[in-house]
Amino acid sequence: MPLFDFIDKLIREHGSSSILKDHLQLIREQAQKEIADLKREHADEIRNLKTKHAEEVAALNRQLSAPQQAERCEFCRKPSAEVVEITPHENSQFAMMGIKIYHYRCSSCEKTFTKQKNSLTR
Ligand SMILES: [Zn+2]
Repeated sequence: MPLFDFIDKLIREHGSSSILKDHLQLIREQAQKEIADLKREHADEIRNLKTKHAEEVAALNRQLSAPQQAERCEFCRKPSAEVVEITPHENSQFAMMGIKIYHYRCSSCEKTFTKQKNSLTR
């Protein structure tokens, strides 16, 4: 019987004090067991969340430390374009959405070009 149903039943009953004492003893044992179960479940949950959090942080760190991929040059098609500057989008609404202008310079043909990128995506 669930603990609170048991307590309700005890409140409704008009038994002798010795029965009351026995029932209180049972409730005490059941409450002790249920609290122990809850504590164990809670500890498991916290451990799972901590593990999950650590994994997410590690994944983000891997992403951040990954070398910037060289872009393919729009003119000579060689993968030798390097970012020389990143500026916010000239349209303030786009800029607020995190859209930035990446300025590239090709180390092969020396031409420059720009690309719009959302800084939240790679
Ligand atoms: Zn080029």
